[in-house]
Amino acid sequence: MTHSVLPIAPEAEVIEKTFAQLKARAPHQRALTAKQRIARLDALYDEVWKRRDDLKRAMWNDFRKPSEEVDLTEIFVVKSEIKAVKRSLRKWMRPKRLPSGLAHVGSASWVCPEAKGVALIISPWNYPMQLVFRPLIAALAAGCTAMIKPSELTGETAQLVAEIVSVAFNPDEVAVVQGGVETATHMLNLPFNHIYFTGSPAVGKIVMEAAAQHPCSVTLELGGKSPVIIDDMKSMRDVAKKVAWAKLSNAGQICVAPDYVFVPANREADFVTAIKQEMVDMYPGEASANKDYQRIVAPHHAERISKLVDDATARGAKCVMGGDVDLDSCFVPPTVLTNIDPNAEILEDEIFGPVLPIIPYASLDEAIRFVNDRPTPLALYVFSKRKRFVDSVLSQIQSGGVSINNCVIHVSSNHLPFGGLGNSGIGSGHGKYGYMEFTHFRGVYEQRFDGAGALLMPPYTPWKTKLIDRLLRWL
Ligand code: NAD
Repeated sequence: MTHSVLPIAPEAEVIEKTFAQLKARAPHQRALTAKQRIARLDALYDEVWKRRDDLKRAMWNDFRKPSEEVDLTEIFVVKSEIKAVKRSLRKWMRPKRLPSGLAHVGSASWVCPEAKGVALIISPWNYPMQLVFRPLIAALAAGCTAMIKPSELTGETAQLVAEIVSVAFNPDEVAVVQGGVETATHMLNLPFNHIYFTGSPAVGKIVMEAAAQHPCSVTLELGGKSPVIIDDMKSMRDVAKKVAWAKLSNAGQICVAPDYVFVPANREADFVTAIKQEMVDMYPGEASANKDYQRIVAPHHAERISKLVDDATARGAKCVMGGDVDLDSCFVPPTVLTNIDPNAEILEDEIFGPVLPIIPYASLDEAIRFVNDRPTPLALYVFSKRKRFVDSVLSQIQSGGVSINNCVIHVSSNHLPFGGLGNSGIGSGHGKYGYMEFTHFRGVYEQRFDGAGALLMPPYTPWKTKLIDRLLRWL
């Protein structure tokens, strides 16, 4: 099945031709049975597995991603998503009979899930394989053909993604188009049937505007600032361990990384001691020399994070750990900030790096108000053993998803929907929810024998008027 990989940043005509092929194939793809769709997913995983070592090498070169984390957060995620789809796809695809009302006597109704058609998947760099393949799995399960644009910032992985796809699929079924903003802009001019975008809120708005020109449905998996609210816990060690892991994994480059932490004012010192200890335990020695500690993807992102830290410290924040960024090697150490000015940029912009601001609170209402004064977060984390505390936080703060007494982990579930609200996104992915994004639920009505409908057509004779009146009173 192997076909050649498209050149990087191809001419607009090449993108248009590729789109035309995907569109021509779409009706055939839509008609595939569950068994045939599952065979496509198996072909994808077989190729991913064969290229496991290459993927590890590529992600190390792209941003020094530890090999174990390629296994855990890229390959395993793809495997488990495929497993979840295989387990339930037949059930999801089955048309569902629905009741007919009295007004529809003599008919049958059902809802039929159908592929939307040609999907566009645009992905970011922070999980450069799973954020391409997880939506692709959903698109293929739904029966769509797909064009994919991986991020140009993780170029080696993008090339491997293109090679994997070129072996697993025909070019009219799935096509990878590599490139940057210009390439993505060409793609967005085409009349796709669904766009699944994962990336920043700023680019999400551009995607939504482009989709309005066709128009087509969108899933926007965006980012934002995900807060952690900690109750007055007996011990801060366990909380600190979970927050440290979630903040430093992938060097904080996770859309649902804990962005900032609220801790009771009288426990701030305990939490600071605990989190510093946990960070050191997780990455002992010099973090820059620790093979498990990742780099920031590109110098301009390292510089952006460095400026956030500088702005905070210039406004009086205390850097109680880390802080010394090395732009040449894109290294940002585990960094903890306290005493932060509420107007500091670090409390406005998504950090997307291993820097943790800690904010003390005197009352829970104060923390809730602070979060609600900002755009709706993608994730919300609450640590407490008291149900009332948890209920208070959950009922008063909206968010895309929630983990209680843990961080980030809800994202790995294939059963829970994953998506944001407002600034953090539109729609949801993962498992059945991903399948539904690429599916149109077509309502079908069949008139099997005529009911009362014909009696209610014009001309409205006096007895028909009377009948309508009776029906209205009776129904
Ligand atoms: P980004 O928005 O800069 O880029 C994402 C993709 O969009 C890339 O493929 C890029 O080439 C493309 N792109 C960039 N500018 C474009 C334009 N003007 N028109 C069309 N396409 C364009 O995001 P990023 O820096 O790659 O990723 C980081 C962001 O993604 C963070 O905000 C993070 O929170 C978010 N994110 C969200 C999720 C999620 O599932 N909700 C997952 C990962 C990352």
